Amino acid sequence: MYINPYEKLDNAVWHKANFHTHSGTGPKTCGVHSPEEVTALYREYGYSFLCLSNHNEFRSFQNYSDEQMTLIDGVEYTTDLHMLTVGIQENLIDMPLQDAIIRTNQLGGFVVLCHPNWPKKAWFSPEMMLELTGYTGIEVLNAVCFRLQGSGRATDVWDSLLSAGKLVTGFSNDDFHAMADGGRFFNLIACEEKNYDAMYQAIQDNAICASSGLYPVFHRLEGETLHVKAALPIESYLDNYEYTFVGPNGQILSRQVGTEASYTLCGEAYVRVEVRAEGGQLLFFQPVYQEGTLVRP
Ligand SMILES: [Zn+2]
Ligand SMILES: [Zn+2]
Repeated sequence: MYINPYEKLDNAVWHKANFHTHSGTGPKTCGVHSPEEVTALYREYGYSFLCLSNHNEFRSFQNYSDEQMTLIDGVEYTTDLHMLTVGIQENLIDMPLQDAIIRTNQLGGFVVLCHPNWPKKAWFSPEMMLELTGYTGIEVLNAVCFRLQGSGRATDVWDSLLSAGKLVTGFSNDDFHAMADGGRFFNLIACEEKNYDAMYQAIQDNAICASSGLYPVFHRLEGETLHVKAALPIESYLDNYEYTFVGPNGQILSRQVGTEASYTLCGEAYVRVEVRAEGGQLLFFQPVYQEGTLVRP
């Protein structure tokens, strides 16, 4: 039997979230814009959740929360590797990476491993990730890397982990440093309430998509056939997209262009769907998988 994390989400409200943002002009902050400017920008872009995650420095920005947007605590734990410790009010840099992951979970937070293919390929390697336990996901898209060296895309790393049986959530973050980075890549999370607990649970349930512009419409499993549709957020004449069904080891199982697409599963351990619009906007769904074949790391 296949597990489809989007089974009950046909009419879901999708909340925009960015968990990787640098802000503040003090030491270690890495950003050049004040929290006032940065939170205003994300509010204008319609975000529901924002985490200001500076390098090895914790400061709560929850006083910037309002009815529209909830500020989430977090830090970008930064050694020779980077990871987001989200939802906690501590800076864990004095601990080794694995201990910091465990501590984050103990405090009710979650961990996202950052930009695996920046500054070079497999910088945060799948081998290293296979040794770690307790993290929730990795950045499969990181916007700022698209204007730096290396790659901001890490679906190859994601497929390595999924193929090894690790149920790793794919995240999409801006890694905001300058204004031009804002609102480009985002997570879409299906939770009814805009609070941390509801959002956290939705992520653990994989009710989340990684996006650079497209939104999910449906991702249904009828029998063994997966039916998928995506859309741009504003009604557009552009409704033909490229749908790619990806299986273990990154194998392309089917590629179709149309207003929606479908694929009949053939016993693959997992299948995930990528959608691409004419303008290059992407949407990555989390995988459907055979019960028992994928487990959280
Ligand atoms: Zn980083
Ligand atoms: Zn960063």
